[in-house]
Amino acid sequence: MSILSSVSVESLVQSVADAVASVHDPEYPDVSIADLGLVESVTVSESGDVATIGLIPTFSGCPALDMIATDVEAAVLALTEVQQCNVEWLPGPVWTNERLTDRARTTLADEFTVVLRRKDGGLRCPICGSDAVVDQSLAGPTRCRSVAWCDSCRNPVEVMR
Ligand SMILES: [Zn+2]
Repeated sequence: MSILSSVSVESLVQSVADAVASVHDPEYPDVSIADLGLVESVTVSESGDVATIGLIPTFSGCPALDMIATDVEAAVLALTEVQQCNVEWLPGPVWTNERLTDRARTTLADEFTVVLRRKDGGLRCPICGSDAVVDQSLAGPTRCRSVAWCDSCRNPVEVMR
């Protein structure tokens, strides 16, 4: 086992981070988990063969988490340098929708009509931009989402929890 120079470890960390960023959320196939703000840390051992990925769950108990961890592992292990990949779900910091990148926000709104709750609890319609969005029921299509209704354009929208 050879010890990589600090420069090659650095470039390997970048490759691992790129591999992690190529993993998409199973529920929102066009949104990467990096854009969702799930990726908190990417580290590689000095020898370069063990990668450890620290992820933050959007909603604990969400069934997609297992799939995400499996996909991350597969993507990282596809790099020839990496022999072992540990995926850790970190207890903190707590995920908030402020961790989403603008790209994720745009894709969620445009392709999935998913709306994010503002800090004041308000909702803005991703279709027409109105604030007249009312919560319908807490039982959404999955435990990670709930359904709301826009009174302005009369469309259902999904709320990401
Ligand atoms: Zn609307």
